[in-house]
Amino acid sequence: MVKETQYYDILGVKPSASPEEIKKAYRKLALKYHPDKNPDEGEKFKLISQAYEVLSDAKKRDIYDQGGEQAIKEGGSGSPSFSSPMDIFDMFFGGGGRMARERRGKNVVHQLSVTLEDLYNGVTKKLALQKNVICEKCEGVGGKKGSVEKCPLCKGRGMQVHIQQVGPGVVQQIQTVCVECKGQGERISPRDRCEVCGGAKVTREKKIIEVHVEKGMKDGQKILFHGEGDQEPELEPGDVIIVLDQKDHSVFQRRGHDLIMKMKIQLSEALCGFKKMIKTLDDRVLVITSKAGEVIKHGDLKCVHDEGMPIYKAPLEKGTLIIQFLVTFPEKHWLPPDKLPQLEALLPPRHKVRVTDDMDQVELKEFDPSEQGWRQHREAYEDDDDGPRAGVQCQTA
Ligand SMILES: [Zn+2]
Ligand SMILES: [Zn+2]
Repeated sequence: MVKETQYYDILGVKPSASPEEIKKAYRKLALKYHPDKNPDEGEKFKLISQAYEVLSDAKKRDIYDQGGEQAIKEGGSGSPSFSSPMDIFDMFFGGGGRMARERRGKNVVHQLSVTLEDLYNGVTKKLALQKNVICEKCEGVGGKKGSVEKCPLCKGRGMQVHIQQVGPGVVQQIQTVCVECKGQGERISPRDRCEVCGGAKVTREKKIIEVHVEKGMKDGQKILFHGEGDQEPELEPGDVIIVLDQKDHSVFQRRGHDLIMKMKIQLSEALCGFKKMIKTLDDRVLVITSKAGEVIKHGDLKCVHDEGMPIYKAPLEKGTLIIQFLVTFPEKHWLPPDKLPQLEALLPPRHKVRVTDDMDQVELKEFDPSEQGWRQHREAYEDDDDGPRAGVQCQTA
């Protein structure tokens, strides 16, 4: 049990979440609440970043699980030192951190929604982006050539100094960023400003990029468009980073190169054999057959080699298709009672039980899981019922 769940709640994951699930949750939320897209959600962006910073570090997560936020704040040197949300974001999406940010224009990160079929077959998608482009009219000067002048208000320093009297005979100097030039130290007088960009030096433009999603790419994979990000005068342009976001599929779940699916079969099929069809992600139909005499138990795993996901950069090779069988039992009273002996005669013999007087005969009733404290107990195991875990052994048929 963990002490607090607040950080998990912020990321919308369970305390039992794997590092991959935490990464994925951060990725989705950080892109959604990034100030570029949601300027009013700065506080939320910060919280997401802090939660991720703690939960993505095994050591910090351990401290948090045991002692909660208090323990994180007291941990180590004493003062809680969270990295800036932007640094966390840049590190995650490969923006290169603060140093790179100062020499280059901003990276533009976009999420691209894709289906599992897209990742299986490959696809080219067009994406419309908004980005800053150096103004063509003034070539990034912001006005007529030679119209840039030293800011008259701050005299080129970019900062303004105010003298404030804080007590009798006591004055304090306060420095603020110059309101006229916004810290640039130079300005263009209003009448000389470029009529296209209004002195901003850049304009906002729509650009269509073609994204080639290759066979075998995966959820969260980044596709980089070097130098296609925001342009700023005198800076190298940033990159456009496209992050693939795979929608859930109704049949297949992906795990690495493998595909996992569940298949319902009737009890008669489980005992007597079957033929079943599977529609693949490239619209072929696979026919699977269980051999005569083979018994498939509820939850059994079988696999088909080379019918998993294509391998990225080697798409002729494929992973494994893993099928988990769910046996549907007949409803109660499906067979008239007088036929039961016939069925029993064919099935393996049942165990004989000798009841003696010192035993208690009790009544067997239906159990309702919504009753009592069962629910809490169940939650701890809930993660286990979405199929086989990673590293599952494949039984070859
Ligand atoms: Zn201009
Ligand atoms: Zn100024």
